[in-house]
Amino acid sequence: MHTPLCRHAVGEPVDYARRAVELGLTEIGFSDHSPMPRDDFDDWRMLDRQLADYVAKVRLAQQTFPQLTIRLALEVDFLPGHEKWIKQLAARHPWDYLIGSVHYVSDTWDIDNPAKLSEWKNRDPFMVWQLYFDRLTLAAKSNLFDIIGHADLPKKFGIRPVENCRPLYVKFLNAAAQAGCAIELNTAGLRKDCQEIYPCAELLQIAQRKFVPITFGSDAHAPDEVGMNFAEAVALARSVGYRESCRFTRRQHEFVPF
Ligand code: ZN
Ligand code: FE
Repeated sequence: MHTPLCRHAVGEPVDYARRAVELGLTEIGFSDHSPMPRDDFDDWRMLDRQLADYVAKVRLAQQTFPQLTIRLALEVDFLPGHEKWIKQLAARHPWDYLIGSVHYVSDTWDIDNPAKLSEWKNRDPFMVWQLYFDRLTLAAKSNLFDIIGHADLPKKFGIRPVENCRPLYVKFLNAAAQAGCAIELNTAGLRKDCQEIYPCAELLQIAQRKFVPITFGSDAHAPDEVGMNFAEAVALARSVGYRESCRFTRRQHEFVPF
């Protein structure tokens, strides 16, 4: 879940936590968009000097709602060449987990950015999928992350390749299985044009066969999105054979049946 520090979310962590308590959730996690080496890289993440403010906001929520387990985490962009920066970020606070996400398929194109939707017009969707999954595979192999975020994000706007994407999924999931990296079921996709959980059932089924662990996330950018569509996410996970998900404490995982 996110915070206003990323400049495209609303509500303080205490507001998200209050909503979680109302819903009867027992554990939530904040994983706001982490800073880049340069603050002017883009305009949809916290600034480097705000990292301590972010941690303080999450700590305040923990103190306000002691009955709720609240995890401190980050959603970190994976770009080749950023490995050293990501290791430094990992050492700055006692994170419970790091979500590795690919939004950028080049240094300048964040494929899920609505302001850059026109970029899709000049490109073959399958080429974007290939670039995206190449990077996602590197992210899984990097051993920098506990969880890989929204594993088929390129479908966000409903633009899909006609080609078979299965080999891309298999290559990525072999890397995730090898590294022991989990993938998330992210319900935000249901709120986008693709109207589908990230990842799709086909990808998730392959993941299950390779024993890739899963987590559940709403990717909430507002308090009323907390826990949204979790019943659907659990049903999807069950339908492909999952019976347990992962939780993280100080970057150690444990399995929880659902
Ligand atoms: Zn976001
Ligand atoms: Fe993301």
